[in-house]
Amino acid sequence: MAAPSPTDLLSSVFGFDAFRPGQAEIVEAVTAGENTLAIMPTGGGKSLCFQLPALCREGVTVVISPLIALMRDQVRALREAGVAAGALTSGNTLEENDAVFDALHRGELKLLYMAPERLASGAAANMLRQAGVSLIAVDEAHCVSQWGHDFRPDYLRIGELRRALQVPLAAFTATADEETREEIVTRLFDGVPPRSFLHGFDRPNLHLAFEAKNSPRSQILNFAAARKGRSGIVYCGTRAKTESLSHALREARHAACHYHGGMDAEARRDVEHRFQTEDGLIVVATVAFGMGVDKPDIRWVAHADLPKSIEAYYQEIGRAGRDGAPAETLTLYGPEDIRLRRSQIDEGLAPPERKSADHARLNALLGLAESLGCRRQLLLGYFGETAEPCGHCDLCERPPETFDGTTAVRKALSAILRTGESFGSGHLIDILRGEETDKIRQRGHESLPTFGVGIEYGRKEWQAIFRQMMGHDLVRPDPERHGALRMTDPARPILRGEQEITLRKDTIVKAKDRPKVRE
Ligand code: ADP
Ligand code: ZN
Repeated sequence: MAAPSPTDLLSSVFGFDAFRPGQAEIVEAVTAGENTLAIMPTGGGKSLCFQLPALCREGVTVVISPLIALMRDQVRALREAGVAAGALTSGNTLEENDAVFDALHRGELKLLYMAPERLASGAAANMLRQAGVSLIAVDEAHCVSQWGHDFRPDYLRIGELRRALQVPLAAFTATADEETREEIVTRLFDGVPPRSFLHGFDRPNLHLAFEAKNSPRSQILNFAAARKGRSGIVYCGTRAKTESLSHALREARHAACHYHGGMDAEARRDVEHRFQTEDGLIVVATVAFGMGVDKPDIRWVAHADLPKSIEAYYQEIGRAGRDGAPAETLTLYGPEDIRLRRSQIDEGLAPPERKSADHARLNALLGLAESLGCRRQLLLGYFGETAEPCGHCDLCERPPETFDGTTAVRKALSAILRTGESFGSGHLIDILRGEETDKIRQRGHESLPTFGVGIEYGRKEWQAIFRQMMGHDLVRPDPERHGALRMTDPARPILRGEQEITLRKDTIVKAKDRPKVRE
């Protein structure tokens, strides 16, 4: 039986839909058994870079970490995900230690977490050799630096352990300064430079842009028209849309074809081959397209629908401009996307903690879509890197006009609450605008105090306000009630007048001059 691929395990074990920046390359090198040093910002996702290879490799991976609480957390999370993991720390009871030793001797463990003090006894190397340790992972590798704040004398024994076991070592840290790096190489790798991963996450040649969906098909057609003859990818949310949109692009005289997981293997290979070899082909695809695509000169990537998470977004736009030459991206989003993504999460089979993590990752992407400042700064910040405004995204080029949206949001929230959180934005907008529709009369909604209090905005404008409210996670469609909007906890302080909210005006003002939404 073929071993599962790292990407399969990424979703089946860890529940992630895409690698974060940098992770894929590190996972690949560590799995291949190379000595590696990876420098990633805190929160960037280092642990996955040894946990995933540990599952792909034969034998046990020993993880040296200085933080007992962190080890316990990771072991618990791994066990919950069905991975055989254990920890040997001074915080363990004797019984706990015995259980770990037993599992180790029976060859059942995949990951063994160990505090560095354990290395002091000298017996550790023998024990680990007998247990079949095939990889050493060192978290917080800067603790080996005698000049740093976090020096841990026992870390100096890790080099000995590596020599004794003769297995590859993967070192991780968030501290990137030159001296620390040199010391890590000297002390952990006997001065032989390992494969190092230090590049930041920034892809300065990528131009970032988002647009609210107004007339989505022409927005994509216009974007493609301005880049005619250059290779690009259009990602769509559904298979059917890849087919209809590639048809529309061909009608507009582009070389375009579609790609999705429902096509047979031969047809897919054919598209992949054409994309590699032809100049200026557009592939309109679901996320099934990309893993095997290794084309350095993709000049643009457009999302006809909102991606699943900020990680998926980064990975998908990251396929453009691998050669370092300028490349452009455009991501469209609308309330329908938000509703769809939320219900996909809610209706999935994942346990509750994972669902709320997925909602949070979607929120991060929506925050990026509705951002008021530089998108790159926000994106890199999410991955733990600090950056200055880039000057090379749509918002740096054209800073959005904003307005104090507190009153509008409070009116909308009160319309939601007074109707029992049972209606979608269409009916709520009728109430706010004081439209006497049949539905309004049937429900007696014309007598609500909120009836007609929002006459200052047109329908389109209210739609943009509701979309931004969804983007800020102030309201969520209720999956049980056909997208009826419910208020979330973060909205409460705004409703109570304790907090203000700034909204973007551009999407609202522009909406007036745009053609009617049709898809
Ligand atoms: P670090 O050790 O680099 O500070 P962690 O390994 O603890 O960071 O990861 C930070 C957070 O990022 C964790 O909540 C983890 O679940 C999440 N994370 C890691 N990799 C991914 C990924 N590929 N997609 C989504 N979330 C991820
Ligand atoms: Zn910018």
